[in-house]
Amino acid sequence: MPRPAVFLDRDNTLIEDPGFITSPDQVRLMPTAAAALRELNQAGFPIVVVTNQSGVARGFLDEDALHAVHQRMRELFEAEGATIDAIYACPYLPGDEAKISAYRRESDLRKPRPGMLLLAASEMDLDLSHSWMIGDSLRDVQAGRAAGCRTIMLDSKLKDQNKPPEADVVMPSLTAAARHVLANRGRGGANPAVNTNTEAMQLLRQIAAAQQQQVRATAGDFSVLSLLGAIVQMLALAFGVWAFFAMVEGGDEMILASLLRFLLAIFAQLLALTLFFLARQR
Ligand SMILES: [Mg+2]
Repeated sequence: MPRPAVFLDRDNTLIEDPGFITSPDQVRLMPTAAAALRELNQAGFPIVVVTNQSGVARGFLDEDALHAVHQRMRELFEAEGATIDAIYACPYLPGDEAKISAYRRESDLRKPRPGMLLLAASEMDLDLSHSWMIGDSLRDVQAGRAAGCRTIMLDSKLKDQNKPPEADVVMPSLTAAARHVLANRGRGGANPAVNTNTEAMQLLRQIAAAQQQQVRATAGDFSVLSLLGAIVQMLALAFGVWAFFAMVEGGDEMILASLLRFLLAIFAQLLALTLFFLARQR
């Protein structure tokens, strides 16, 4: 039987956001976050963190470092008696700001799209229409709404009557948001519900798995192409030197040999550049 969950944004919702967190020692819990999670834990809601982490695509940290940051976050919450059940992070980013080409892409996992919530619902057997998405930015509530959840936007300054249409309510803090979730337990959920056992969900799972696999494969290809490029680059240099010596030696025959070797050097150089270019594109 699918259970309702509480989906939470990470930065500026659960932990402080100093910009891009790249190492575990930068992790600081938001002041009342642990208390709010404890209340939700006690009420039996699975806690699922859904976070855009474009720092991976931007080259600020790799997936291992991101995992270490999340491990630290879990430990800090555990020390306060609060449990995070799952963490979904989207490392992708479209456009030129993504310096790591393997992660430069549009992704249905990236909020405001609902992919991470749908994936979690499918993997953890969650009831999205009775679940909540809580976050401090517009794209959090947009993702929640797109997944068919009820949504809470955290903003201490925004008045509820000025809330964006995707947010069901605006709350000044995570504590207030948790209270709102608990007060509305058992009430009718959001509509329309998303059926997580549809073919579309199967497809989404496959897309997510394929994207992960592609990242791994691309990482492998990248070094092979670069290595080939480096070898061909060395060959180009060698042909160049060989041609130079033939020219220095002089004589009609040697001039012809020298020309041929220069042509080989130019060909190898072009090939090396092509290989480097391909390696960068992937
Ligand atoms: Mg945030």
